[in-house]
Amino acid sequence: MGWNSVSPCDLDREFAPQIAQLLTTPPLHSAKAFPSFRPSFEYYDELIESKKHDGIRVTSSSKHGKGVCANKDFDEDDLILKDQMLVGAQHSLNKLDCIVCSYCFRFIGSVEFQIGRRLYLHSIGTDNDGAFERHCHGSDVGSSTSCSGATNVNANAVPQEVIMSLMAGDMQLPFTDQFALPSVAACPGGCEGELYCSQSCADSDWDSYHSLLCTGSRTEPSRRSALQKFVEHANGTNDIFLVAAKAITYTMLRWWECVALPEDVDSSEEDSFRQQIRDVAFTSLQLLKDAIFDPECSPLFSLDVYGHIIGMFELNNLDLVVASPVEDYFIYIDDLPDSEKEEAEKVTGPFLDALGEDYSVPCEGTAFFPLQSCMNHSCCPNAKAFKRDEDKDGHAVIVALEPIGKDDEITISYIDEDLPYEERQAQLADYGFTSYYTGNFES
Ligand SMILES: [Zn+2]
Ligand SMILES: [Zn+2]
Repeated sequence: MGWNSVSPCDLDREFAPQIAQLLTTPPLHSAKAFPSFRPSFEYYDELIESKKHDGIRVTSSSKHGKGVCANKDFDEDDLILKDQMLVGAQHSLNKLDCIVCSYCFRFIGSVEFQIGRRLYLHSIGTDNDGAFERHCHGSDVGSSTSCSGATNVNANAVPQEVIMSLMAGDMQLPFTDQFALPSVAACPGGCEGELYCSQSCADSDWDSYHSLLCTGSRTEPSRRSALQKFVEHANGTNDIFLVAAKAITYTMLRWWECVALPEDVDSSEEDSFRQQIRDVAFTSLQLLKDAIFDPECSPLFSLDVYGHIIGMFELNNLDLVVASPVEDYFIYIDDLPDSEKEEAEKVTGPFLDALGEDYSVPCEGTAFFPLQSCMNHSCCPNAKAFKRDEDKDGHAVIVALEPIGKDDEITISYIDEDLPYEERQAQLADYGFTSYYTGNFES
């Protein structure tokens, strides 16, 4: 073969201008160049309207692609947005420390229940790992999640029967009535992995995702064991898979409930028709999985509420954080006047010692927030995600760090700005950034 074989072929030469045009990157702000982006923007417009977030709008620019702009002036500390998650999940290890509603991520039960259950799980965890696994998957603990990786807390400081009476609600700690939490509602499917703050959250979770993901007795045995394997695998690797499963089940459940019964199907056959639709959906999912599965990557896609597939690069997954009432409680005790504090600490001191430094662990997880995820990163952001005292659930709350003028872009930092340069860069790499895109990094 001569060198001629690498020169352009006749077709390359003939269509050179057209090929060059195809290879040019179209400007991001051109809606015509990216017709598939249009539904996303309509989706955001509708979302903003339905949630009455009239202070912001989702826009696109040639410089930064998609972003969020202010529709009005904001002062420092003003609330810009309370963004409801599309889908989210608590980190599996965090379930050891924080018992929250599986739907809205509000802390549930009581301060006593939170402390008692955490001490209980940690106490069986420190014996040996095998025993811990068995207990965690057993019927006496309301969690089916993986429990390996417990921290070393000396739970021996509190006797087991005291822990049990805390969990059962027989023992009351002083001043906990100031920190009332919603009582615990069970999963309608009978699994022990999910707990809720109310019947309405239990029902919403069931209708949105959980009816397809429940490992309770209402689920047919073969599907249950497959689900258990899936949940164990996700817990042992990356809980982003649980979030992805919720996004997929959400879309599938919407679809087979919405499909109209065709005219030639008798209403008495509706059940079998819906079952056929489910089978079609499962086959489609299997084909999709075969088509897009890339072992090198986390899930490559996500779905918006209409079932549009949105690239993960467009919809960043973000941290879900809810502050712990257990931390608030011990801070409250510490701030009491000396005489009251001394009296209260006689009771609370041993529990604080047993909990150790982890007493303040918040609820942590991964979630997709449709509007927050449109906000661009800046190392000098003008807004931040910040939970105020009244924000007790999994909503993302964005407040202004400085006055923001109408039409200014609203930016947040995706990472901890106080970290050293290399760590910030490593964290931003998760979002597809390199230092090229974040030129305002200074080490
Ligand atoms: Zn709830
Ligand atoms: Zn369940």
